[in-house]
Amino acid sequence: MGGLSAAPPVPPPPSKEALGLPAPGAELPVVGQAAVPFAEIETLRAREFIPAAKETLSSLLAERAQGKVLRPTFNWAGRNSLFPLHWGLACCAIEFAAGFGARWDAERFGVVPRSSPRQCDLLIVNGTVTWKVAHKLIALYEQMPEPKWVIAMGNCATGGGPFRTAYSVVPGVDKLVPVDVYIAGCPPRPEAMLEGILRLEDLIRERGG
Ligand code: SF4
Repeated sequence: MGGLSAAPPVPPPPSKEALGLPAPGAELPVVGQAAVPFAEIETLRAREFIPAAKETLSSLLAERAQGKVLRPTFNWAGRNSLFPLHWGLACCAIEFAAGFGARWDAERFGVVPRSSPRQCDLLIVNGTVTWKVAHKLIALYEQMPEPKWVIAMGNCATGGGPFRTAYSVVPGVDKLVPVDVYIAGCPPRPEAMLEGILRLEDLIRERGG
């Protein structure tokens, strides 16, 4: 048969003299004597250590949160809200424009054309590129902030198309700027343009964006 036993008596707290603390009114310690007893030094260290440890832990957590939550969230938002430059070069530009109309509604994918290259991260080259316009195209590309991507839309932008042998036509816009996605067709339909944009989103995800 078990029963409740009395708790052991709690020892009284040690006196200041037992801890080595100076009594009130006592003389200050001389050189070579410990001003503060060892136990007190340990307490002071602990007081400094706990806030420092808390700060280290919170910064580590913040770093992990940035890597695991913030950066992937920003990347997800970025690749699902591509802003193409609002411009057109030739007949493919009509398909580009149609893609943003009510029937195909590219904006449902978060793709919104902007009229300033400084607000864009996507250049859709939608037509024949001539050498005369080449330096303008490069200037527009260079004004876009990083990260940025290029889609060559249609046979002309991809390789010169039916005008490949003409003296005035650039045989592919990749001679001027780096191209991420090529869309075949003369002209490609708006559905093909949407497919190209979705493939670009996949590509950005594969590259870690
Ligand atoms: S690929 Fe065809 S439709 Fe597109 S710009 Fe060239 S000629 Fe025009």
